[in-house]
Amino acid sequence: MSMNSVGRPTRPTLVATLPGAIPATLGGGRGLLQDEGLIFEREGWDSSGVDLPEPSQDASDLGDMVRAAPIGLPGLSEPEAMRHYVRLSQKNHAIDLALYPLGSCTMKHNPRLNEKMARLPGFADVHPLQPQSMVQGALELMDQLAHWLMTLTGMSAVAMSPKAGAHGELCGLLAIRAAHEARGDARKRVLVPTSAHGTNPATAAFVGYEVEEIAQTADGRVDIADLAAKLGPDVAAIMVTNPNTCGLFERDVIQIAELVHAAGAYFYCDGANFNAIVGRVRPGDLGVDAMHINLHKTFSTPHGGGGPGSGPVVLSAALAPFAPTPFVVKRGGSYELVEYREGEAAQAFGRLCAFHGQMGMYVRALSYMLSHGADGLKQVAEDAVLNANYIKARLSGVMSAAFEGPCMHEALFDDHWLEGTGITTLDFAKAMIDEGFHPMTMYFPLVVHGAMLIEPTETESKAELDRFCDVLLLLAGAAKAGDVERFKGAPFHAPTRRLDETLAARRPRLRWRPELSTNVAAE
Ligand SMILES: *Cc1c(COP(=O)(O)O)cnc(C)c1O
Repeated sequence: MSMNSVGRPTRPTLVATLPGAIPATLGGGRGLLQDEGLIFEREGWDSSGVDLPEPSQDASDLGDMVRAAPIGLPGLSEPEAMRHYVRLSQKNHAIDLALYPLGSCTMKHNPRLNEKMARLPGFADVHPLQPQSMVQGALELMDQLAHWLMTLTGMSAVAMSPKAGAHGELCGLLAIRAAHEARGDARKRVLVPTSAHGTNPATAAFVGYEVEEIAQTADGRVDIADLAAKLGPDVAAIMVTNPNTCGLFERDVIQIAELVHAAGAYFYCDGANFNAIVGRVRPGDLGVDAMHINLHKTFSTPHGGGGPGSGPVVLSAALAPFAPTPFVVKRGGSYELVEYREGEAAQAFGRLCAFHGQMGMYVRALSYMLSHGADGLKQVAEDAVLNANYIKARLSGVMSAAFEGPCMHEALFDDHWLEGTGITTLDFAKAMIDEGFHPMTMYFPLVVHGAMLIEPTETESKAELDRFCDVLLLLAGAAKAGDVERFKGAPFHAPTRRLDETLAARRPRLRWRPELSTNVAAE
């Protein structure tokens, strides 16, 4: 038996157990986990989970607004409702269960301190229409967060209200369009590298620009010659992700900025990967004009179901006057939300959303920053890069890395190493689910064949990274040894087997109880 450094027996790692022919359970359960269907599939739609008193008056004064048919909601008691949601949650993966290696998504631990701060009644219970004199603390917090975002990026202004990365891109491009229009210089094209996140060309097209692709060099960076050839007086902006979606730092970023500015265009940087450089590099020093920051990535606020996103956009001095309203300013000891800052012409494109953005996320992000401090934030970037390179080094012997040399915060592999096995990137990812790991990002970036993009983030310990790498190496060994069965039908152990994604996309079934739902089925 092996021992650890304090003389305790260590658990034998990774005993590879294949179930062989294990009989299916009779009732659909699985080792203390009961099967749970959708709420729409349950009986009991006419019952109610609570007893309500009969109305004391009849409803005749409501006229034709009286409901003619039951409202059509499932009736559950409190324990039934609790169990329904807890059972569903057990079918799901979460960052609190295991490493979540989705490249480009930065799925890192959400510190509980942030949650505690966000639940303080003074922050949690404020209303956007409350008088400003009553929410001075909330405004001060927004001002402080804005200060730190500008300090960390070396930029002149920040628009706080965008509610996600993609919304931030929209904000940045609307500010760029407003700046061009203010000069009477309507431009038509936006340049986007082939490795760009899909939201970049989508945003540019949404704002009304023509999107033109810039080629990539063999070592995964923007092709400067192609950029220079495509720049012209009708180019409004370039959108570049840095570090890029191949997990590489754009070495020529200053030259890119100079070329773009010489053509009278603006440099939009997709800052979703700021996690890899925060505290080490200030995008403002690189010549960036606008960049969104995903608070739900870099600053650890929860993604998706855990809370809404937040994508503040930092702006250079050139674009600052075009930031959307409102702004928090401090006047004579108190904070105010104003439409325009003094001395600035009212050139912005207006508001991006009704109120001021995601207050709960601001509290979490500032808590994260203050609990790390300047040195801690720098270490975040360093550890994120170290962790990705550790994975890259451990797996490179077996899996083929897409690019040579060290990476930034994500390690990118292609499917070259699977050639001749009959196993695809998708099969490999599905087999990871059986082993208890959420798959990495697959088939993105598009420029890499069968891409597998792994982002561990800085919050994983060496032990967790080793656990992940050990499993991937075992799986890779099985793939190379021709154990095709393990991959082709995977996942075998997950709550649902492999889905027909093509059918789901082509013929989505959006209506479970057609007689109750107003959803339009797309059949
Ligand atoms: C996540 C991401 C986005 C989009 O951000 P959302 O908050 O999901 O809208 C854009 N670009 C890159 C590179 C990303 O990783």
